[in-house]
Amino acid sequence: MLIRDNIAVVMAARTGAPDAFFGRDGRLARALPGYEERPAQQRFAEAVERVLRDGGLLLAEAGTGTGKTLAYLLPAVGLGRRVVVSTGTKNLQEQLLTKDIPLLARALGRDLNVAVMKGRGNYLCRLRFRSFGEAGSFRRLDEIPLFRAVEGWAPRTETGDRSEIADLPDTVDFWREISASSENCIGQGCPEFDPCWVTRMRQRALEADLVVVNHHLLCADLAVRESSYGAVIPPYDTLILDEAHLLEDVATQYFGVHVSSHRVDDLARDVERELKAGRLDARDVRSELETVRHRSERLFKVLSTGHGRRLAPGWMSSHAAEEAQALLLRLEGLRTAILALPERPETLTALSGRAQALREELAFVLAAEDDGHVYFVETRGRGVFLRATPIDVSARLQELLFEGLRAGVLTSATLAVDGGFTYLKERLGLRPTEELLLASPFDYAEQAVLYVPRGMPDPMSPSFVERAAAEIVRLLALTRGRAFVLFTSYANMNAVAQRIAGEVPYPLLIQGEAPKPVLLDAFRSTPNAVLLATASFWQGVDVVGEQLSCVIIDKLPFASPGDPVVAARIDRLRSRGGNPFGDYQVPVAILMLKQGLGRLIRASTDRGVLAVLDSRLVQKAYGRRFLASLPGARLVHDMDEVRVFFNPEATATVTS
Ligand code: SF4
Repeated sequence: MLIRDNIAVVMAARTGAPDAFFGRDGRLARALPGYEERPAQQRFAEAVERVLRDGGLLLAEAGTGTGKTLAYLLPAVGLGRRVVVSTGTKNLQEQLLTKDIPLLARALGRDLNVAVMKGRGNYLCRLRFRSFGEAGSFRRLDEIPLFRAVEGWAPRTETGDRSEIADLPDTVDFWREISASSENCIGQGCPEFDPCWVTRMRQRALEADLVVVNHHLLCADLAVRESSYGAVIPPYDTLILDEAHLLEDVATQYFGVHVSSHRVDDLARDVERELKAGRLDARDVRSELETVRHRSERLFKVLSTGHGRRLAPGWMSSHAAEEAQALLLRLEGLRTAILALPERPETLTALSGRAQALREELAFVLAAEDDGHVYFVETRGRGVFLRATPIDVSARLQELLFEGLRAGVLTSATLAVDGGFTYLKERLGLRPTEELLLASPFDYAEQAVLYVPRGMPDPMSPSFVERAAAEIVRLLALTRGRAFVLFTSYANMNAVAQRIAGEVPYPLLIQGEAPKPVLLDAFRSTPNAVLLATASFWQGVDVVGEQLSCVIIDKLPFASPGDPVVAARIDRLRSRGGNPFGDYQVPVAILMLKQGLGRLIRASTDRGVLAVLDSRLVQKAYGRRFLASLPGARLVHDMDEVRVFFNPEATATVTS
């Protein structure tokens, strides 16, 4: 009987009948105690099934709680051909693998053939690991015990994925020198090619029905597809992009070019190491290395004072131009010297290619001539970065990604602005065949109130922080802590943290005090905790239950026009006769606000208050666009109404 049922369900999935799966008495209900049927989930699954079967492009906003992950996974595993699923982050990949896919397999009663792929940098490169062991040197001696842990793990691992090593910090320096990367990999010429972790990962993906990647790997792959290094994701024509609202930012990051003082240093260290490992005398190469280092130091020192500066053709002073020219020449000298070595290993030949790529990219950024890019200098820590970032990624996404797809699905809980997808379609250059807007099944009118105080000072005014801090203290008293307070800047976060520290009798957790996962664990396990954080906590953070009963946002999250990429996009829209504020800045902020406020209600039993301390939301005409895009929580302006929401018995006090 069980076997017959399983066959029926697998067939149902293969032939496209999500109702047999998601229905009240369906397979999912039997696999998941407490299952609640959600019509929107089934509608979404049917739409995905249709587009995967017939081809086309589906855009779907599926509000929080729709159950969109299972809704797209079910048709994907029943398709009978390779489907790539891309999520926003590695954490979401992990969630798919440890939660949603096992549940789907359980409900279907069969194993699913799934492969996970992360960016190459997550995997140990056998060749570089060996050469580092023979000839590498540590930048930080306190990392030696961590390296010993890697040495203990390397012979045992089946995947080479660094996430298997407990307590290896993301920031550990030596990992860069032993991990795989497209620019260091020598591909089939590598003596370790067959047992290589990246080769094996790719092999597993070639054999899988479902390949789970993240947007970073997806875009990194698209960016290298045009170069000689090749892509790692196996060929695909069917793609499901979850958290699709992140795609433009990630593509912008990977389709751009950056040259930094770190990149030159890394190249020099790698060359030195390979010479040492190969016991090569190579005096010419060593002398070129010294000059490259010296010239790089001089050039980046000249540039280090220009943080945030936008570059245009002819931007360099004659002194900077002289230094730049010298470095370009020396990179070419290094390349030639390496290639002149009579018996050089493949790894050194690859490094000569890296020197050439670095020279070409440096020349491209310094010239600042391509009007499709915005060029600027950025300093971070001790590094100086020269960046060329594409202003508009739609044409390249179209050419590199969407044109090659037979079927695609772009989904997220926050994709729509003003009740439609015009903004997204323009930014990503999409021509969908079907669009779907699925509201959250949660009853926001019952589960939440949206508090927007009237008469707050303008967020730019000097008195804003003082007033915001006072509002936060009063709100936290009503909610007994249990809140996220999300800021649009570190400056506001720190200023408010200082002011409320002695006023709030609950544990305060502040971004920067510990890594993000540690802070989130502490928040979940500390009664009445309050977390103060900025942009990275606005999305991808999930706290179910009354531990999170309040989300406060200091101001509408407009991207700073001081950011060179934002400024260039504004200029571009204006020069084309558009309205940058209405067509770009407001939609970006609406999506961000939807994400931030979306942290609060994660289940049908969650209740709480959303607070936005920015009166522009109700005073400005554009505020209506924000309000219309938010879930339907009751809008209140009086703190007493928040009090009543948390304590209905208080009604009499308020109204008397
Ligand atoms: S094939 Fe590339 S990534 Fe793999 S071990 Fe060799 S060099 Fe490293």
